[in-house]
Amino acid sequence: MDTDRMIGDEVARRVLTAALSHGGDLAEIYVEDRCTTNLSLEDSKVEEAVRGTDRGAGVRVFYGSLSTYAHTDDLSGRSLQAVARNAALAAQGANRVQVLDFSRAQSGLEFPIEKPFEAMEAQEKSQLLRDLDQEARRFDPRVVQVQARYSEDRRRIRIWNSEGRHAEDERNLIQLSVIAMAQEGDLVQRGVGMIGGQLGLELLDRVDPLAEAREAAASAVKMLDARPAPAGEMPVVMNNGWGGVLFHEACGHALEADFINQGVSVFTGRVGEQVASPLITLVDDATLPERRGSYRFDDDGTPSQHTLLIENGVLREYMWDMAQARRANRHPTGNGRRQSFRYLPMPRMTNTFIKAGESDPEDIVRSVQRGLYVKMLGGGQADTARGDFVFSVSEGYLIEDGRLTAPIRGASLIGNGPEVLKEIEMVGHDLELDKGLGQCSKGQQVPVSVGQPTLLIPRITVGGTSEIP
Ligand SMILES: [Zn+2]
Repeated sequence: MDTDRMIGDEVARRVLTAALSHGGDLAEIYVEDRCTTNLSLEDSKVEEAVRGTDRGAGVRVFYGSLSTYAHTDDLSGRSLQAVARNAALAAQGANRVQVLDFSRAQSGLEFPIEKPFEAMEAQEKSQLLRDLDQEARRFDPRVVQVQARYSEDRRRIRIWNSEGRHAEDERNLIQLSVIAMAQEGDLVQRGVGMIGGQLGLELLDRVDPLAEAREAAASAVKMLDARPAPAGEMPVVMNNGWGGVLFHEACGHALEADFINQGVSVFTGRVGEQVASPLITLVDDATLPERRGSYRFDDDGTPSQHTLLIENGVLREYMWDMAQARRANRHPTGNGRRQSFRYLPMPRMTNTFIKAGESDPEDIVRSVQRGLYVKMLGGGQADTARGDFVFSVSEGYLIEDGRLTAPIRGASLIGNGPEVLKEIEMVGHDLELDKGLGQCSKGQQVPVSVGQPTLLIPRITVGGTSEIP
């Protein structure tokens, strides 16, 4: 870690001492140094690279279950002391504690970067976007527009607290995406290709980015022949991978400890109860290599972990950050995350997925007489505490007599996440996580992964053929 741009143990100790000068039972300093580069292409032209750096620190003081927070983008000793005094003021009157010695926490997790972002010149990255554009247009003359984006994000953090915790982490994210628009008459359809994750430029050697451009073009062109979606209740087979976003939005958020403590979640007070089909095991795991939601320590400095949320349908655990865990007298599960030093951490998902089952994905499709096969979900909305959702289907097919037939367009799925979890009848053995561009917004943006095996939902409302031309 580049220590010049961060602060050291001595400064941290002085800041924490100042933060506790009016009392309080725990103080913490969080320091962050981040650089990002974004490149985008539209109309076959690459826009100028947008580079950004962001550096700063926040000081938090707990007194009982309450806390105060102040932050600055000036890492000088004087500025940090002032921030600490600000955070301290609100903690007046509480018991005083001493700042302990720091011993740096060790993590056994490795997220190695084989090829750092600097290993490729900016021009080469721009050329890659132009190649994607060409490849998608070459695929079919009906591809009329292409957008491509490349981004890299390096974030280094350090956390010290007055209990002697000292944790450091470095997170490197890369992503590349291509959207192809195909047109026939007035009808325009889009297809998407993407790759990404927590790794370096070796991603571009491992996966052929041009194949993603062809995939985007192929899916846009295929959807030109799509029929309007049927509406009503029917069985739905969800493809493995990105479909997990539905459960992230419609079930995962309701398992975050802030909603639990507030008592607004459908899952409040239900640990030990059967809340899902016995076929469903749902986990949140921030220790997986190469995934966007992974880290060694969360933004409270708690080591990351694998958390069993629902096991064979039985609710086992919620996702806790430090603040919510203190409130409920529980142990944090390493789910404290923040968008940047300007924000307080809150309980967030990391890499959240339904574990593989035993069914053959082809048997799952074969079991359906007439229904909908969802290959790719588009945008969606969900009530995070109750789990009601509407998601659009960006690529879907009819299932007729156990076989995939015509592509359909304009379908949406309407339902309730916890209800769907109870009804799932078949779970494939083909667990896959998303392709590495997941982003969760719950007031703050954080990178996440989602995933699932192929699933059979026996009944769900499919809505909206309103876009029939
Ligand atoms: Zn989310």
